Amino acid sequence: MNKKPRVRFAPSPTGGLHLGGVRTVLYNYLFAKKNNGDFIVRIEDTDQTRFVEGAEQYIYDCLNWCGLTPDESPQLGGPFAPYKQSERKQAGIYQQYADQLVKAGFAYLAFDTPEALEKMRHDLKTEKNPSPQYDATIRMQMQNSLSLSADAVAELIKNNTPYVVRIKMPENETVAFTDLIRGEVKFDSNLIDDKVLLKRDGMPTYHLAVVVDDYLMKITHAFRGEEWLPSAPVHLLLWKYLGWEKDMPQWAHLPLILGPNGKLSKRDGAKFGFPVFAMDWEDKAKGELTRGFKEMGFLPEAFINLLAVLGWNNGTEQEIFSMEELVECFSIEKVHSAGAKFDYEKAKWFNHEWIKKLSNTELTNRLIDFAPDLYKNLEKTPLEDAVALVKERCHLLSEFWQQLSFFFEDPINPDTESLKPKWSEAKTVFFQSWLGQLNNQPNWDAVTLETDFKALAETLQIKPGELQLPLRIMLVGGKFGPNVFTIAEKIGKSATTRRIQLALSLL
Ligand code: GLU
Repeated sequence: MNKKPRVRFAPSPTGGLHLGGVRTVLYNYLFAKKNNGDFIVRIEDTDQTRFVEGAEQYIYDCLNWCGLTPDESPQLGGPFAPYKQSERKQAGIYQQYADQLVKAGFAYLAFDTPEALEKMRHDLKTEKNPSPQYDATIRMQMQNSLSLSADAVAELIKNNTPYVVRIKMPENETVAFTDLIRGEVKFDSNLIDDKVLLKRDGMPTYHLAVVVDDYLMKITHAFRGEEWLPSAPVHLLLWKYLGWEKDMPQWAHLPLILGPNGKLSKRDGAKFGFPVFAMDWEDKAKGELTRGFKEMGFLPEAFINLLAVLGWNNGTEQEIFSMEELVECFSIEKVHSAGAKFDYEKAKWFNHEWIKKLSNTELTNRLIDFAPDLYKNLEKTPLEDAVALVKERCHLLSEFWQQLSFFFEDPINPDTESLKPKWSEAKTVFFQSWLGQLNNQPNWDAVTLETDFKALAETLQIKPGELQLPLRIMLVGGKFGPNVFTIAEKIGKSATTRRIQLALSLL
């Protein structure tokens, strides 16, 4: 690579960050880091009608949680500031390029009112052409600087008639480029409309702004979602018309992430109970909360890992990758061109693997951060011991409390009901006698407790297997948890005897 790579994530801050969006950022980031390049965040907020309170900060929070740290951004600044398109517009950056395109005949001013546009669409609408576009077939019949005389245009401008600037799409041309994932992609220019470049309020549209900013910010590679593929020919022509063709970034359009029925959507998440966004996002206008991987109990390491391999592999069987390993072996050419199917069970498996990989101390710290109300007041060493004992059983951070709360508090409703059908006087006698022994037990450790328990069962001629489940329910509350004698050891003598007594009183 002759130039230092510069890649960008260019979100429009309008709502939650979809996992497909994070995967796009990740691939950009990995590519940059692998090639000692820079990763830039640019906020594309030119559409003021879509402004959403809190959405920009939310993007920074998501990137931060994922460990995708930018080298330049609106927050960090950098040599190409400002990094927010609304601020760049104020600096007058876009207007001059729109003017340049008009002067060179590649774009024109269009004065059509919204009503006139509506009428044109209505009049031309047929069954074959349900959404007619503003293009070469109609542009000479509309009110624009191509169809009107120079005097008429000058008059309209003098009267402050609002106008937009549109690109003049060429006729009968094939616009082609090489996509790093898809290979050569071709478009027929006749099928593309004369997109608006500059709006009536003087704001650039996405199409103009993305090209100008990628150029001025010296972006070398742009990987984005495949929903932008139809816009690529417009961008390509703009690069050419502005005279910047040799500096054009290399493009890759990433395939969709698929859910159970086509593109993975928020609705799928709500329906099947899995997260779709990186972090919880509340749409205040709709009063709707979409769940995030973070709040559902995923570790960022696992989230990054599962996204990386959703549509990419390094050609081996390896599935678990740390960020460092990904940086080491990522290559954009190995991204598959077909959509990748999201499988929530598999996603949880990745999280489980990462839960097991973290040290007990680290995992405990993550739990404290995850749910401070539950964990922060517990003593650190017993908490770490409990975490170590149950982590094999947990796929999500949110599952730990249910699995280990009994180490710290008596079960609220021990499920003694389930024991009743097989309960007998002999079992009561057993537990009463064992309680007597426990009260005088000098060595409170799992091995001694288990040995004595079994010896007493033999003396009283009851199978120990029939007593262990009741003991578990007494101590834990239900049919789960690690070795029951280890639990007794950890919770100590007074909690053990108290819980047994309580349960006996219910049986
Ligand atoms: N602002 C666009 C978005 O919200 C960026 C598309 C691109 O990367 O070119 O996704």
